[in-house]
Amino acid sequence: MTALIRTLDKYTEKCTLCPRKCSINRKRGEKGYCQAGYLPIVYTYFLHKGEEPLISAGRGSGTIFFSGCSLRCIYCQNYKFSHFIKGERITEEKLAEIMLELQEKGASNINLVTPTHFLSPIAKAIILARRQGLNIPIVYNTSGYERVEIIKLINPLIDVYLSDFRYISSPLAQRYSQAPNYPQIAKKAILEMVRAKKIKMNSSKTKKVLEQGVIIRILVLPNYVNEAIEILRWLNEKKVLEKVYLSLMSQYQPYFLAKKDPRLKRPLMPEEYQKVVSFASSLGITKGWTQEEPQERLAGIYFKPH
Ligand code: SF4
Repeated sequence: MTALIRTLDKYTEKCTLCPRKCSINRKRGEKGYCQAGYLPIVYTYFLHKGEEPLISAGRGSGTIFFSGCSLRCIYCQNYKFSHFIKGERITEEKLAEIMLELQEKGASNINLVTPTHFLSPIAKAIILARRQGLNIPIVYNTSGYERVEIIKLINPLIDVYLSDFRYISSPLAQRYSQAPNYPQIAKKAILEMVRAKKIKMNSSKTKKVLEQGVIIRILVLPNYVNEAIEILRWLNEKKVLEKVYLSLMSQYQPYFLAKKDPRLKRPLMPEEYQKVVSFASSLGITKGWTQEEPQERLAGIYFKPH
């Protein structure tokens, strides 16, 4: 594991941790696209009951929200701390303590939200916490904008990948997230996640938790039903759908700059969502979740951090 830490540190010293490849020295305090610095900045952490059922089972998912992000989605529901840096900068030791505290409170897992840019100190914290008795799965909760090399590197540390698949067309990825290479990058990363993490369940009398595996989230965007359908088509062609859980999300709301976008300035209409659900059904998907009711609690619909 120390070799893993050394390698992640090298990636951080000439930062190429994410596909932006800013090549600046984060350990010396230089800041790139994500504006993150070196030590992790935690906005908040708590037992989250609003993630997918196999993640939030029991008393909830031990969710840690990191500040900053390597994407710039104009509709980001967490924009207050993902576009802008907000929160407390903490040491690896403190982060390990937080993980153990969440486990002590009954968390089913440790759910790292947007961890990519802090991977080096997060890896150190996981190793420290494991030595001190952390024995629940680690969930890597990501936008999908991940270098495949980095995913291969961190596979031994991670049990569950909870990954968005946001765009399959480059102009959309550019327009809404400043990342024209998102589709090609996310495809490779997701295929590697699926290769590395076969589904394993842990069922007890009180809860059923995903011990290992991949969940793919597709947030259906208003006016872009075909984008979600094309993503599903690609996942089906690559035989991914039979190996993962699919989370089809209808919870889109025009947060942040999306209010000004002519196509994204309204919520998703039920008919639009239904088209995507019908297409998914036609593919015979059996593992996953839909959001039938707008008020359904899933993936932080009403999560309003303050
Ligand atoms: S993690 Fe941040 S600094 Fe590093 S390459 Fe990505 S955006 Fe740039």
